[in-house]
Amino acid sequence: MKRAEIIAVGSELLLGEIINTNASYISEQLSKYGVPVLYHQVVGDNAARMRETFEIARRRSDLVIVTGGLGPTADDVTKEVLSELLERPIVRDEEAFETIQRFLRSRNRPMNEGDARQADVLSGADVLQNPVGLAPGMWIPGDTTWMLLPGVPREMRALVDETFPKKFSGATLVSESLRFYEIGESALDDAVKDLLNGANPTVAPYAETGEARLRISARAVDEMTARAMIQEVKSKILERVGSYYFGSDEETIASHLVQLLTRMNRTLAVAESLTGGEVQSMITSTPGSSAVFLGGMVTYSDELKNRYLGVALDTIEQHSVVSKEVAYEMVVGLAHESKADYALSFTGEAGPTSNSGRPVGTVYIGVKTPGGTEVIERTYPHQERNMIRMRAAKDGLWALIQ
Ligand code: ATP
Ligand code: MG
Repeated sequence: MKRAEIIAVGSELLLGEIINTNASYISEQLSKYGVPVLYHQVVGDNAARMRETFEIARRRSDLVIVTGGLGPTADDVTKEVLSELLERPIVRDEEAFETIQRFLRSRNRPMNEGDARQADVLSGADVLQNPVGLAPGMWIPGDTTWMLLPGVPREMRALVDETFPKKFSGATLVSESLRFYEIGESALDDAVKDLLNGANPTVAPYAETGEARLRISARAVDEMTARAMIQEVKSKILERVGSYYFGSDEETIASHLVQLLTRMNRTLAVAESLTGGEVQSMITSTPGSSAVFLGGMVTYSDELKNRYLGVALDTIEQHSVVSKEVAYEMVVGLAHESKADYALSFTGEAGPTSNSGRPVGTVYIGVKTPGGTEVIERTYPHQERNMIRMRAAKDGLWALIQ
């Protein structure tokens, strides 16, 4: 496949009501298989303009992937337009038709014309049965190969994930995304610069809220070989920046911490002001967290900090509620009440304006371990409210991993 182009169909995309995430997903997947994407187009639900778009794509691209407009409503005309352009009649696909029939019967709904139309395909197309919806996709080989996909992102992804590996290589492609914290994106880049130019495996950096990732992708005859290739590069990377690494793929800082505590057979509790429950939510979204997480408190007001955690009102008055002293008393009070081996507390000024007298972005995190208690001060200047809260939550969890 030399040149690919993606066309997203839907007036709502042009109106700015939804973001064209389908094109970005398809592009990303194609790049994994080394298929270069040279153009993205977006066109509304209008047959004439759609035809124009298709004609342009046919002239310049070897593979055109169209997403959207395969549904049951009158504005879904992708198939009709392509049928005319390619001079391929529309025929009904029995398997898709039965799927639709079964689906409607199970809901006691009669089948109308629109429902049935979803089972129509272009003659000669490989029909890509839809495992999670009704409208099937299509693969139409030719001088220009066409691939039609539903617009619903979940359905589009299911068909891409199923079809691409079959169409683009006999080889297996395996990826692992290494996740790092507290190392800046550019520092990470510098540390692994020499590894970023490889063709197979490839190493690609990207960043998200305070985290950095390196995705290693390897292509090989089978999965085991690909994994071994990944492992080799991974070892090199971890030799250099392993102290910032907390896990791969779906692992999070919280799930890593839960694992460590489980292994040590130790318990954890959390007291939150600034983060309002975010930290406890991150911990409890990890399966198995109940083995180590005792619970915690969200004490947003001065009064509850005083009543449930024993923070002295004097301390708050003297030092401000956003202070080292308050974070300290919060974590000590919580550790005492909960008897947890490890405890965290969070207080800070998330803004947008300061209520505490401290600059927006000032955060104090109380950290109690069996070895002692300390308070970490962090400032995240020029950050938006929820970014400050997320960064604080992750920094607190990270402090226990160190
Ligand atoms: P349906 O059977 O739902 O009608 P369809 O193939 O006709 O599917 P559309 O009607 O174009 O697809 O889109 C269905 C929904 O999928 C849209 O409401 C929109 O939320 C989402 N969607 C469509 N295209 C895109 C896109 N390019 N990026 C992200 N979301 C999209
Ligand atoms: Mg539709």
